[in-house]
Amino acid sequence: MVTARLRGGTAEMTALDIVFSSAHGAQHGEAELTDGIFTPCYEQPSRADRVIGELRRRGTGGVTKPHEDGIRSLETVHEQGYLEFLETAWPRWKAKHGDRDALPLNWRAPGMRRDIVPRSIDGQLSHYSFDAGTPITAGTWEAALAAAAVAASAQALVSAGSRAALAVSRPPGHHAGRDFYGGYCYVNTAAIAVERAREAGARKVAVLDVDYHHGNGTQAVFWQEPAVFTCSLHADPRDTFPFFSGHADETADGTNLNIPLPHGTDWQSYRPGLERALSGIAGFAPDALVVSLGVDTWEGDPISHFRFRTSDYPGLGRAIASARLPTTFVLEGGYGLEAIGANVAGVVEGFESV
Ligand SMILES: [Zn+2]
Repeated sequence: MVTARLRGGTAEMTALDIVFSSAHGAQHGEAELTDGIFTPCYEQPSRADRVIGELRRRGTGGVTKPHEDGIRSLETVHEQGYLEFLETAWPRWKAKHGDRDALPLNWRAPGMRRDIVPRSIDGQLSHYSFDAGTPITAGTWEAALAAAAVAASAQALVSAGSRAALAVSRPPGHHAGRDFYGGYCYVNTAAIAVERAREAGARKVAVLDVDYHHGNGTQAVFWQEPAVFTCSLHADPRDTFPFFSGHADETADGTNLNIPLPHGTDWQSYRPGLERALSGIAGFAPDALVVSLGVDTWEGDPISHFRFRTSDYPGLGRAIASARLPTTFVLEGGYGLEAIGANVAGVVEGFESV
């Protein structure tokens, strides 16, 4: 189903609003540390290019460029010191170490200090990160600014009356907190959408995270915010990254719901958890929904262990549509390049069909 809107005084049928910026391509890391070796980054520009290419090929929606300000959008979620680090990290690293991607070397152990930010760029990389899979490159800041603008712009369209919008934003965001990065994420695009919705008048907002991995960053950003309900279905953190967050007993006094699932989960065995999540969202009675849309639940994903088929994703979209909420989809993970476009398109087309 397409939605009808008034534009310039005449009724016009519009499909999904899609926001995209080619500036995402500025983030192009060389390598990440995986399984004991440096491998080419799974999180790469062709991911978003494949998604937007497939959406355009199918004519799934109208594609626009972002119109919101990236810096201002970032400041609604992230701490100033962290943003200053992110903006300056690359030139400082390059001046010291040369033209190689910046990766941290060590992290604090329990009992070490977090209240004092190191002066050296090496120490700051360790201070602000939580893994070695997330290189800072020459284009990281530019891409992060664009991703923030894309997410805020998609939400602005929904807040202005669109039924739904898709932010084809990259790099992904749901592992990034107010003052930390990791898991291929530097800035939290879903959280930026939430704050944009609240600026536009939403009193309560829900986040549904359907990425294969726990949205630890989003959970952390809103942990003490009773007006935002965060909910994530993901691989059990006892087995899977990010390991230290995502357990079912992390409830934030009822405003956070984690549904950890075993390796091998397929669409049929995922559905009861999804229904629990949607029931939790309905009980919260939000004014708007932000979906962290990762499709690394796909059976062929190179870093994940769920078994969704491409034909399952429209069902996921229909289930999300059953919440009957203004909905902003924000692209998160999905590393199987051959199917990422079809899987994302499947979700939003399933949503639009309801
Ligand atoms: Zn993921």
